[in-house]
Amino acid sequence: MRKHIVAGNWKMNKTFDEADELISNIMDKLEKTTLDRNTQVIICPPFPFLEMTSDYSDDSYFAVGAQNVSDQESGAYTGEVSAAMLESMELDYCIVGHSERRAYYHETDEIIARKVDQLLKHNLRPIVCCGEVLEERESNRQFDVVKKQITDGLFHLTAEQFADIVIAYEPVWAIGTGKTATPEQAQEMHAFIRGLIADKYGKEVADETSILYGGSCKPGNAKELFANPDVDGGLIGGASLKADDFIAIAEAF
Ligand code: PEP
Repeated sequence: MRKHIVAGNWKMNKTFDEADELISNIMDKLEKTTLDRNTQVIICPPFPFLEMTSDYSDDSYFAVGAQNVSDQESGAYTGEVSAAMLESMELDYCIVGHSERRAYYHETDEIIARKVDQLLKHNLRPIVCCGEVLEERESNRQFDVVKKQITDGLFHLTAEQFADIVIAYEPVWAIGTGKTATPEQAQEMHAFIRGLIADKYGKEVADETSILYGGSCKPGNAKELFANPDVDGGLIGGASLKADDFIAIAEAF
């Protein structure tokens, strides 16, 4: 059975002390609740807080992920962080291809494909984001856009490699806007993505791939989003910065 995943993307928020307080509050709540046994919680803080976050997760209440990685192995790339470095910290996951990276840092599907390769080479599981902007949805091009992102970013992988991929469908018009995709829109796109994977790698691989929804997911809408057969959890931005909200979303399964 594929995993349900609730992953918190803190983005560029929190100072050291604030991060410490947030993780400690999340731990408190996780200790007091009983999540569905198939639900994996992941926290993706900024790079400087990865070690602190990992230290809290020793008793494996949650897994830890980075928000970005270099597409290069090592060397003279000032300011970059390599997959080998993340591996040496024993991290589990890394977000790749978030729409903010695509828009502000000009990440193309080719760059994203190289980042995915780096992560897999170093035993990290990529959480690969895809999704259309508002204008693409309004002109009914969302399926073409997502198909291209998945095909160009991921379909060079072998079926064995693909087994480590987590996909996050994040309609860009829903990220940080308070505007959520309807459960029907989410289900429709998730089923479409699973169909693409099935066509390329077969039904067994597709059935095992966790496909998360991201975009203004909150405690108030998580249950109806996660109730859809092809929605396997969420990539959570704003609501992951409040322990109560984040854990309430994880409890929505
Ligand atoms: C995100 O950035 O991945 C995201 C889903 O953000 P938000 O939940 O704030 O819309």
